[in-house]
Amino acid sequence: MNQKYSLAALVGRAITGHRSWKPLWRCHPLSEKYQTIIVGAGGHGLATAYYLAKNHGVRNIAVLERGWLGGGNVGRNTITIRSNYLRDESIPFYVESVKLYEGLSRDLNLNLMHSKRGMIDIVQTWPRLRELRRKQLAMDLHGSTYVQIGVDEIRRRIPALAGGGPGSRLPILAGMVHSDAAVNRHDAVAWGYARAADALGVQIHQHTEVMRLLRNESGKVCGVETNRGKIMADAVCLAVSGHTTTLTDTIGHGLPLRTFNLSAFVSEPVKPLVDVIVNCPDLGLYLSQTDKGELVIGGAPDPGQSFRRGIKQKVFEDTVCAMLELFPAFSRLKLLRQWGGHLDMAHDASPIISSAKIPGLFISAGWWGGYKAIPAGGLTFAHLIATGSPHPLAESLVLDRFDRLNFVLETGTTISV
Ligand SMILES: Cc1cc2nc3c(=O)[nH]c(=O)nc-3n(C[C@H](O)[C@H](O)[C@H](O)COP(=O)(O)OP(=O)(O)OC[C@H]3O[C@@H](n4cnc5c(N)ncnc54)[C@H](O)[C@@H]3O)c2cc1C
Repeated sequence: MNQKYSLAALVGRAITGHRSWKPLWRCHPLSEKYQTIIVGAGGHGLATAYYLAKNHGVRNIAVLERGWLGGGNVGRNTITIRSNYLRDESIPFYVESVKLYEGLSRDLNLNLMHSKRGMIDIVQTWPRLRELRRKQLAMDLHGSTYVQIGVDEIRRRIPALAGGGPGSRLPILAGMVHSDAAVNRHDAVAWGYARAADALGVQIHQHTEVMRLLRNESGKVCGVETNRGKIMADAVCLAVSGHTTTLTDTIGHGLPLRTFNLSAFVSEPVKPLVDVIVNCPDLGLYLSQTDKGELVIGGAPDPGQSFRRGIKQKVFEDTVCAMLELFPAFSRLKLLRQWGGHLDMAHDASPIISSAKIPGLFISAGWWGGYKAIPAGGLTFAHLIATGSPHPLAESLVLDRFDRLNFVLETGTTISV
């Protein structure tokens, strides 16, 4: 039963010392068979379970998570939500995801602290300006906002941006404003989807690691072997972020994916300094300020393949140098925490939402910068699993695009997540 977080409920529970709240999701005994197994209780796995139950009436679903719910990249990202992509196949997908996020607090009845504050790309080279202007024209066709502004306007909107003047190494040339961009609270997204899915009957099993995929005599994927035993299923759906190939390798299914480390760090809380998301693609830096006042800072990925979940010193130093070039006053900031995650990226930098080449297996992967895509990713993956056909928004994101050389090239996504 989905308990409501209304004002009346909050007041009522406060009177009784907040002792009567139910856990957000329940612990169930593990069954030997389910209709659908979703591997990974990250944003995509939980959203998929929720939309499968809500939109398609599938109830016999188990989400298997090797760690704790929300402990993967969904709880490690820098919460940038945006739809400034380049391709006709991508933009509507992300526009829909941004739209779903805007209504998600109400849909899940949980305050996700969604803040539509906009993003400004700081442009410091002419090729970048040409690339982003091209993106603007493509985005115009799909109702996503991207508007060029001059240097004076950038400095008016971001007073802390004191670097990048005419005499600097890379003077600022222009800015691109993406007013649809937003941030919200990432662990609340995981908890909100988990709670809503649980209320619809989905079973979430934490500390249940899938060691390998199982196939029957006809070759179909028919279940998984976990650290708690074998579990059979009609459909096995992978939403394991950087570990997709670890699992598909167990049945010899190759995928055009590589896993990379992306890291971020956060400062001590300071007074309000920046009220937009600032993205500096030429330097490999982006930052935003949380409601608590911390600056959340991210940089470029570590280019080598890696499953590391920490931060590499070289990447950290490069990101700090980039930040101080544009925000010299931030040299006085104390940093509180640093962390990283491992993400898989497809060879064309677009996601894969697809049936696998082996029957019984479904794959949602390539979620480089996939936090923004959680609602649309879950919605379209659930549609595919339930109906057997790709959702119209994700028709181009199927696996066989690599066989047909029909890539959805989104190299721009590798500059900012
Ligand atoms: C530092 C950083 C910054 C980022 N910033 C942004 C951003 O600003 N905007 C944006 O859009 N995206 C961003 N991302 C990317 C985004 O976080 C990911 O693309 C997205 O969260 C991935 O999908 P997910 O939430 O389902 O993954 P995850 O949360 O990683 O979920 C996968 C789950 O699968 C589980 N799992 C793995 N293997 C197994 C197994 N064998 N058995 C059972 N469970 C398993 C994992 O434990 C994990 O919980 C960032 C990522 C990082 C690391």
